[in-house]
Amino acid sequence: MDRDYVLKDQGRFNPTKLGTAVTGLLTQHFPDIMDIGFTARIESDLDEIAEGEKQWAPVLEKFYSPFGKAIDKAMKEAERIPRDQIDEETDEICPDCGRPMVIKSGRFGRFLSCSGFPECKVSQPLLHRVGVECPDCGSDLVQRRAGKGSKSRNKIFYGCSNYPTCTFASNARPLPQPCPECTGLLVAMGRTNCRCLNCEHKGPRPEEELVEATV
Ligand SMILES: [Zn+2]
Ligand SMILES: [Zn+2]
Ligand SMILES: [Zn+2]
Repeated sequence: MDRDYVLKDQGRFNPTKLGTAVTGLLTQHFPDIMDIGFTARIESDLDEIAEGEKQWAPVLEKFYSPFGKAIDKAMKEAERIPRDQIDEETDEICPDCGRPMVIKSGRFGRFLSCSGFPECKVSQPLLHRVGVECPDCGSDLVQRRAGKGSKSRNKIFYGCSNYPTCTFASNARPLPQPCPECTGLLVAMGRTNCRCLNCEHKGPRPEEELVEATV
């Protein structure tokens, strides 16, 4: 089972600031398209085209000509949203200057950056804690993706946040409950089972509470 690890103070279904900003811009500049009545009309037009009752070209023309104009207009007029207004706050503290760290969205995805940027240039990859401690050193385990050099590139695995000092890693997802036999680390096995990394214990997976994830 793949779980969505969400950010702690963001709630499971709360939109990000970036999402809210984008929706605001779309509603402002493309009111037609963001309107449910419009979407419904387009759908019934498409149905009629499929049933041969309407020609597709006039329908597309009717849609695209105002849409194309709206795009041109938005490209010129939409205000730029200052980057720091779409940064997400976190509880993390910058290790260099003590200011709070924020989540920024960049070309290569989301990352953690010091809110003191550009004076302070500390940035870190965004780590998804899985709510389980490393069996080797007690630090948080985090979800990572295998990097470029690896054969299993992009595959998710679980490693220690204390890497490279601690090199603990597991392909199977660590579970929050300790092994009932040795209190070692249990990892998920298949959809419903688990096994211990420390002893021979295998069995059905214990009930899981939803673990709130953090950065
Ligand atoms: Zn800093
Ligand atoms: Zn560790
Ligand atoms: Zn065990």
